[in-house]
Amino acid sequence: MDDKSHGQLNFHLTQVISGHGCFRSYLFRFGHDTAEECPACFPTAVEDAEHVIFQCGRYATLRQELADAIGERLTVSTLVPLMLVSSTNWTLISQFVAAVMNEQRRAEKARQRTRDYLSDRKLWYTTSTGTESYEVTGGVPRDQCSAPPCGTLCTTESSA
Ligand SMILES: [Zn+2]
Repeated sequence: MDDKSHGQLNFHLTQVISGHGCFRSYLFRFGHDTAEECPACFPTAVEDAEHVIFQCGRYATLRQELADAIGERLTVSTLVPLMLVSSTNWTLISQFVAAVMNEQRRAEKARQRTRDYLSDRKLWYTTSTGTESYEVTGGVPRDQCSAPPCGTLCTTESSA
């Protein structure tokens, strides 16, 4: 380990190795998602770290590019050994994992917006006889501006 970064586990790799990251199986377990199935492979696969990194069709191209670059396909048992072969391998595999995890994060945020959009709201208002409420179904998302010229999501992205 002559290269300093060679032995350092970065944020995305830690998510993959621990399984604690933007994977629906993990989010679902803690009530942060409505299902644990992979949105691309549904209903055949649970979206966990293993599925995302080694199997999911969404990342087939990235996975193939990585295999071409390092001369071998990643598997559960070869991930760590292949990383330790050289600092070049370490960098290439880290970049692959980062690209996948960034996309996982983007997809999760998109699902979150959809859930916000479809969730029911309770509107509270004051009357002369006290506070009353009204159920709103399929409310307007908190962070979306639908009026022109935006037309697209104007997210505040307050939560990092
Ligand atoms: Zn999948």
